[in-house]
Amino acid sequence: MTIDRHDIQATAPADGLGCHAGAEMQAAARAAGNAEVLDRYAADYPQGPHDKPQSMCPAFGSLRVGLRMRRVATVLSGSACCVYGLTFVSHFYGARRSVGYVPFNSETLVTGKLFEDIRDAVHELADPDRYDAVVVTNLCVPTASGVPLKLLPSEINGVRIVGIDVPGFGVPTHAEAKDVLAGAMLKYAREEIMAGPVQAPAQGKSDRPTVALLGEMFPADPMMIGAMLAPMGLAAGPVVPCREWRELYAALDCGVVAAIHPFYTAAIREFQAAGRGVVGSAPVGLDGTMGWLNSIGEAFGIPALQVNAAQNAFGPAIKAALAANPVKGRITLSGYEGSELLVARLLIESGAEVPYVGTACAKSDWSAEDRDWLEAKGCVVKFRASLEDDLAAMEAFAPDLAIGTTPVVQKAKAAGIPGLYFTNLISARPLMGPAGAGSLAQVVNAAIAGREKMAGMKAFFEGVGEGDTAGIWEGAPNLRPDFRAIHQKKLDKAAKAAKAEEMI
Ligand code: SF4
Repeated sequence: MTIDRHDIQATAPADGLGCHAGAEMQAAARAAGNAEVLDRYAADYPQGPHDKPQSMCPAFGSLRVGLRMRRVATVLSGSACCVYGLTFVSHFYGARRSVGYVPFNSETLVTGKLFEDIRDAVHELADPDRYDAVVVTNLCVPTASGVPLKLLPSEINGVRIVGIDVPGFGVPTHAEAKDVLAGAMLKYAREEIMAGPVQAPAQGKSDRPTVALLGEMFPADPMMIGAMLAPMGLAAGPVVPCREWRELYAALDCGVVAAIHPFYTAAIREFQAAGRGVVGSAPVGLDGTMGWLNSIGEAFGIPALQVNAAQNAFGPAIKAALAANPVKGRITLSGYEGSELLVARLLIESGAEVPYVGTACAKSDWSAEDRDWLEAKGCVVKFRASLEDDLAAMEAFAPDLAIGTTPVVQKAKAAGIPGLYFTNLISARPLMGPAGAGSLAQVVNAAIAGREKMAGMKAFFEGVGEGDTAGIWEGAPNLRPDFRAIHQKKLDKAAKAAKAEEMI
């Protein structure tokens, strides 16, 4: 029998634990000796207006990062329902690898046998012919119970063992969970570098100083960035999260790291500990690219003439691409990928009016430039935006298009407003330099042009599947307002009794 997350703390309120019980799980984890890691998460990923993840399970972020790395095995330790959901989503998104799972029950959790089972599983997996590293992730319940992954051996037969806690009550978004694993791996790799020689990059060491790139992006974007860096005598380094363990060494060997996605707090800490400079924002649109090239030039101490050469080589092409692919209309934008501000910049430079950008990620030093730029254009920028914030903005600004998360788009479509999913349709496109400049227009303009179709659909489906008629009915819904009134009376009575008891 596997334990359910609801079983973890008998003293907790009856409404259940897990995704929706941040405070109770936090308290349990602190009591179980995990205060240090939770304090670090609180500093790295400040909480927003609520302590419950509003998007998918945050651990999906770190799971995906591990699954995308060559010769890395991933093992989850958590409630069966959480692991089922996580493996389902990872395979839905094309993971071609198995996800390891160490199940548990009330007894193995309480007696510490779960930790022994994890240790056995790790020993079994640590085959140097197959793996460079094994990543073990504690989900909510094992984190709240203090299953001590830090006591795992750091290496078995030359295979690195990386243990991380990724609870939904400490890591607010799946984007930030990517940072938890990326940071843990960079820390490990940095300590290896300090201890002695490490593997060289597979394609050899670059003969030019490199700029490591933080954040998952469209595959062509690093190449575009590399082309823009070349006139300054620089090269694009690896993208972090990396695809292979040895890339971590090459990333740490960079001259400067570009925080393209600004929420990688733990990863940046490791780069800074290695003495590397950090540059925020990204080369998106004309202003963004010119500013970013300037910042990179300054960080490397490159003469202005050489920076100008890079700017002159790409500026006109970006300008032309923006002019050739105009976007007309008012757009509200929200998401949880961390690249929302960059996309908003590009849309504004393409001619769109963007009155609101909400990101589920927290504010950081590395997003300050984008925030300032957007605010100067009259855009409201909301960090740690909740679903309620995003929906209120959509209602207030009545946009021609709402780009957002699934529930935002669902609400927009129900209101007859065209909507586009940020994650699948917007963030999976090139954004950088000339290649990014025209890349959003087609999909955005096509969606805006569909407004009339949306209105027709809204009129056609008006009232269907709403309220009492939601769900699948074979006949007419059997509505019983009399039952409802009796039930409401019972609820009111119970509420009154509870109130009276409180006052005694
Ligand atoms: S591990 Fe994820 S799915 Fe499971 S309770 Fe925590 S946040 Fe929810």
